[in-house]
Amino acid sequence: MTTASRLRAFGTTIFTEMSALAARSGAINLGQGFPDTDGPPEIVTAVESALRNGGANQYAPLAGVRDLCVAIADHQRRRYGLEVDPQDGVQVTFGATEAIAAAMLGLLEPDDEVVVLEPFYDSYPATIAMAGATRRVVTLRPPDFALDLDALAAAAPGARMLVLNSPHNPTGRVLTRAELEGIARVCVDNELIAVTDEVYEHLVFDGEHVPLATLPGMTERTLTISSAGKSFSFTGWKIGWCSGPPQLVGAVRSAKQFLSFSGGTPFQHAVAAALVDAERHVAPLRATLQAGRDQLCAGLRAAGFGVCVPQGGYFVNADIAPLGAADAREWCRALPERAGVVAIPTSAFYDDAEAGRTLVRFAFCKRPSVIEEAVARLLASSRRVA
Ligand code: PMP
Ligand code: GLN
Repeated sequence: MTTASRLRAFGTTIFTEMSALAARSGAINLGQGFPDTDGPPEIVTAVESALRNGGANQYAPLAGVRDLCVAIADHQRRRYGLEVDPQDGVQVTFGATEAIAAAMLGLLEPDDEVVVLEPFYDSYPATIAMAGATRRVVTLRPPDFALDLDALAAAAPGARMLVLNSPHNPTGRVLTRAELEGIARVCVDNELIAVTDEVYEHLVFDGEHVPLATLPGMTERTLTISSAGKSFSFTGWKIGWCSGPPQLVGAVRSAKQFLSFSGGTPFQHAVAAALVDAERHVAPLRATLQAGRDQLCAGLRAAGFGVCVPQGGYFVNADIAPLGAADAREWCRALPERAGVVAIPTSAFYDDAEAGRTLVRFAFCKRPSVIEEAVARLLASSRRVA
């Protein structure tokens, strides 16, 4: 065993495992969350121009290409009324994933404690462990995944950081303003740093996205993370960023400079142009995704699943208990052969094995014909079993 002990427990990510299974079996992949349609062609053209016009094929500045940093600061002001400094208050990263890792490595001391809500995006526990810190977990339970504010308040004393994700992966929950106000009070009362993962900020179908940083007392203690991958359907470009007060962004930068320094320069130029016009690009995507959500939810219901309807993001969670199944991981491993579909066991995102034991996550960021075929296969398979 040569992997360092702090990483050994994490193994291979569930996304890698399930996408490999999809590739091997030829099943429809509703597991890993990536769109099967590219984003707007004009954003692709902007990359081509940046590649060919000279000056964009070498290292970007550490903070990021200036136009992108300015576009991020403008976006935060325009959309949310948040003032961030485009130089010291913005850091471009290799996807939101690097921003998350650099936040943990740059902000946490060994043995610090970090409050996270489960089910959690898998990189949070892994990067908390890489920083030598430990997690305190507050559990969200189906079918509505409501936040128990008392449990959060009980977990907070003595912790250093809260990691929050809304719209939430894997549940699709969009936290309400009232919930966020309660969370803000816990952060202020316990002097927590808040790291908020808002990669699905533009993909809200019901309710509204409220950045935690906009609430009283939070601007100065919140690091806000986002990414172009989800907003513009270019998950492979890995252009992410964080923004917030210079002392928090500076800590991220300290770590980031030694992780990858800087990169993706032509993509950064294109994302800068896209962000200036974010709403125009994102509105059709949001409408398409909402239709995909409704199509998949209806199909899953018809196939006999319990369905937890998401308010935002890429994913719907389905309960397999009504189908007579008891273990999501086993069920997902057998699904390609049984039905020709790949999905992710939501239990992979819980420490509490019981809490998510019968939940399965399906992605709906796929073409309507693909969702239709997947649903037909699931229906046929549930009829065979019944
Ligand atoms: N956070 C969440 C909640 C995600 O779902 C994802 C993956 N899509 C990421 C972070 C990583 O984003 P990126 O691909 O920009 O690294
Ligand atoms: N965010 C994507 C998901 O939740 C996967 C990203 C990854 O493979 N790490 O499916």
